[in-house]
Amino acid sequence: MTAIEVDTARPPLLLTELRLPAIGRLWQQMAERSDREGWLAARFLSTLAELETAERARRRIERHMAEARLPPGKTLDGFDFAAVPAISRARVMALAAGDSWIEKGSNLLLFGLPGCGKTHIGAALGRTLIENGYRVLFSRTTDLVQRLQVARQALQLEAALANLDKYHLLILDDLSYVHKDHAETSVLFELIAARYERRSMLITANQPFGDWNKVFPDPAMTVAAIDRLVHHATIFEMNVESYRRRSAVARRSSAKAGTETEHAAPS
Ligand code: ADP
Ligand code: MG
Repeated sequence: MTAIEVDTARPPLLLTELRLPAIGRLWQQMAERSDREGWLAARFLSTLAELETAERARRRIERHMAEARLPPGKTLDGFDFAAVPAISRARVMALAAGDSWIEKGSNLLLFGLPGCGKTHIGAALGRTLIENGYRVLFSRTTDLVQRLQVARQALQLEAALANLDKYHLLILDDLSYVHKDHAETSVLFELIAARYERRSMLITANQPFGDWNKVFPDPAMTVAAIDRLVHHATIFEMNVESYRRRSAVARRSSAKAGTETEHAAPS
């Protein structure tokens, strides 16, 4: 082997050993380019390092997207803000950036009748926050309560709560569907208390607080839970008619208009 000959079999082995798959895949192509364009060695090295870093970030976001269990297809771009005058697009976009609320462990509460877009906004915010580097978990509140209840029975509640700490944002969808008759709902209070002022929660509910006594085991616990949730919180009351219903009505009336046109045509 002369001074300029290189053993090209070794780098792939070493790069696999070092867990640098992007460099492993691209180094030869980049080396050819570097030779052709006469790059300095430092430029070659930093280009490879940047490729590996970018791929790592992309894979991390992919993992975080998968673990979040968001309902598919709900994006901020796909949300018609004009349909919900009570919430401003700019405000939601600021929340989607994460800015300070996630760092402070503040909460976001979305209230409104079924079909008004709470789950959509929650899921879309979650998706954007993940793209911005945060970790999120979306769950129906009933499912999470059940999971925590099982953990409590196994004397693992603390570990289960600590495990949820890795998520900057926990989205609890449909809190008001939780019923203290069906489950041991003090786990929900323990969750709220554990995250208070540390980790954010986004909660959706059909009713603002009024009927939360049905959720928690006793009125004192209801007050204590609400108190912690609202201490640092943004509250959106999306007082609009169901989007599902409105689009169904719109579809029906455009179909009807179509029929009328057809009737009108022969005359
Ligand atoms: P909620 O959780 O308040 O019951 P959803 O978020 O499930 O309501 O909304 C019901 C359906 O209507 C979903 O398919 C959702 O994507 C859609 N939707 C609701 N509001 C809007 C909106 N403002 N723009 C676009 N789609 C909407
Ligand atoms: Mg919903």
